[in-house]
Amino acid sequence: MAEWDYEQIWKETIDYVREELGEQEFSLGFNINYIRSTEHEIVISVPTSLQRDMLKKRYLGTMENKLKTLSDKKLSIVFEIDSGQNNKEAVPSSVPENTKTTQAPGRPAKKKENYLYLRENYTFDKYVIGENNNFAANAAIAVSRNPGNAYNPLLIYGGVGLGKTHLMQAIGNYLSTNSDSKIIYITAESFTNEFIQALQENKMPAFKNKYRYTDILLIDDVHFLQNKLGTQEELFHTFNSLYNAKKQMVLTCDRPISELKNLNDRLRTRFEMGLNVDLQPPNYETRCAILKKKIEANNISIPDEVIALVSKNVSSNIRDLEAALIKLIAYSELVGKPITLEIAQQQLKDVFASFRQSNMSIDTILRIVAEQHNLTINDLKGRKRTQNIVIPRQVSMYIARQITEYSTTEIGQSIGGRDHTTVMHSCNMIEERIRSDPHMDPKIQNLIRQIKEYSAKS
Ligand code: ADP
Ligand code: MG
Repeated sequence: MAEWDYEQIWKETIDYVREELGEQEFSLGFNINYIRSTEHEIVISVPTSLQRDMLKKRYLGTMENKLKTLSDKKLSIVFEIDSGQNNKEAVPSSVPENTKTTQAPGRPAKKKENYLYLRENYTFDKYVIGENNNFAANAAIAVSRNPGNAYNPLLIYGGVGLGKTHLMQAIGNYLSTNSDSKIIYITAESFTNEFIQALQENKMPAFKNKYRYTDILLIDDVHFLQNKLGTQEELFHTFNSLYNAKKQMVLTCDRPISELKNLNDRLRTRFEMGLNVDLQPPNYETRCAILKKKIEANNISIPDEVIALVSKNVSSNIRDLEAALIKLIAYSELVGKPITLEIAQQQLKDVFASFRQSNMSIDTILRIVAEQHNLTINDLKGRKRTQNIVIPRQVSMYIARQITEYSTTEIGQSIGGRDHTTVMHSCNMIEERIRSDPHMDPKIQNLIRQIKEYSAKS
């Protein structure tokens, strides 16, 4: 086979990424070596699988697009892990079009095409079960053992970075090794795109065949289907034929189905009819356990006090937790020093600060809470004590406590110059209400979601 040399193109790609990212971010994230190229791919090496995952997650699209512009063809990037020691692995970054020429060395041929869409490290044994996710995880395990019969569909919902995709793909990976099932994993977005393309190119029969004759259908992020009425209609029929044939469906969503807007009622009832389980943010102990597992898997050593520091400061979700860890590992590898508490504190200062910064301002909280209750921000800040104002005011304080890093003193200050004891009292009142009124918590979660969406946009 002819030699292909894309080293120059690779260099240009990397220069481009460096410019895009800035030197600092680049030097922390891009510990990459060019190894070789073949007709359709470029093989590079990185020191750890965590770094590979981070690069793939954040920059693969950018790199592949640039490669495409420069070479005028689709080149895949294949990552090898080179820890400087023995363990070498190579993982194709995307499904190769021609498996003969693109099979990575030393890697057995995959038995099923669909398997390649699943990330191989998204398995049950890499999934830490804590009180935040044990219901969802056990449901996923039950479905894997008895697909089509246990709970159909299984719908997993929860905020970003909480492990929905991992859990869903763990089902796929499990069945891929332990059964002959034909498995399709697809995001709702790709499903929509494929559907539209099939319509345009008069390929609907093939599209229908593909999705209606699979054994397991995993659709990620179905909130994307809001407003997509045509795709919803198609999925509704797909759903029915799979359901009637007792084929397992698993769905994920970033919120409870009841809160999706512009979703066809027939599809909504289908989504809700199996089992709906939610993922909550992990508590401190679970965060430590997750970090320990990732550290173990990467064969590195990080002192417990550093694990405690990261777990304490990164509470939002697991994706952020991983990002902090990756930064530490990258730093220690680049400067060749072990990760100590001092290094961690110093290196993660900005990361922790950015988590705090990305916190919503209290004004945003007030704005959304006020809007939802037909009040003004001044009503919430003011002194009036009518019931219709008091509760939303308490809710604002409670939410501020939950999702920002502000102290009770600061929260009180920003909400009409109140005392910190008022804030504490309000939070207790709301906690009490959550215990006694089953509608209260969903309402608050909904507000929190809107607040986060609003701040993400602004
Ligand atoms: P979501 O789909 O909910 O946005 P992901 O499934 O992509 O979240 O998870 C984000 C990252 O966190 C992934 O790298 C995943 O492996 C990791 N992760 C999430 N939950 C767990 C867990 N319970 N144990 C170990 N890793 C987890
Ligand atoms: Mg996901």
